[in-house]
Amino acid sequence: MNIVLLGAPGAGKGTQAQKLVADYGIAHISTGDLLRAAVKAATPLGLKAKKYMDAGELVPDQLVIDLVKERLGADDAQKGFILDGFPRNTVQAVTLDSELSDMGRELDCALLVDVAAEVIVNRLSSRRTCRDCGYTGTAADATCPKCGGEMYQRDDDKAETIQNRLDVYEKSTSPLIEYYRGQGILKSVDGDRPVDEVYTDVKEALNL
Ligand code: AMP
Repeated sequence: MNIVLLGAPGAGKGTQAQKLVADYGIAHISTGDLLRAAVKAATPLGLKAKKYMDAGELVPDQLVIDLVKERLGADDAQKGFILDGFPRNTVQAVTLDSELSDMGRELDCALLVDVAAEVIVNRLSSRRTCRDCGYTGTAADATCPKCGGEMYQRDDDKAETIQNRLDVYEKSTSPLIEYYRGQGILKSVDGDRPVDEVYTDVKEALNL
């Protein structure tokens, strides 16, 4: 099963993806996680990407596309994948379609985790992330409930950057909803509910 997760930053895409990965063993390809790992390791890609990420802007398409292409070729992605945070604009979506078609593969579903902008602002400002395993929690988590690691606030989850990320989402990413509707593969779940209720709908939408 090859899935694209759509939705604003903070809609819960990563959380739902982690649950699907745990239950169905398909590869989770989060471009945000891959980029943050590159920044942490100070690779050439990380050094180029950091300033865009800190400002809540999109990293240039070609950098992200190369990253995703490499990841889609890895062994664990052959059984299926969940793309989380990619594509973020029409250029990326069109490139993804053509890469997959070159590989003789295609998307089964673009699943929108739908949450209103007001809810997103509250969620992102209280979001905390584990420095070691990437677990997403809230300001109430003193340490990571999964691995005991240190929880921190991502620079781009600070108030000054959140509005810009939402503007970028509205302008560049939300047109993908129509793009995938046009392909007949769009499904949508209401993401403004407890995680497990959303997950039940996610599985139903994906016929799992
Ligand atoms: P995320 O964790 O998905 O919210 O991504 C964090 C940041 O990484 C974004 O605000 C962008 O700066 C960058 N990023 C992640 N995915 C992409 C993408 N597909 N295209 C461009 N930039 C991206």
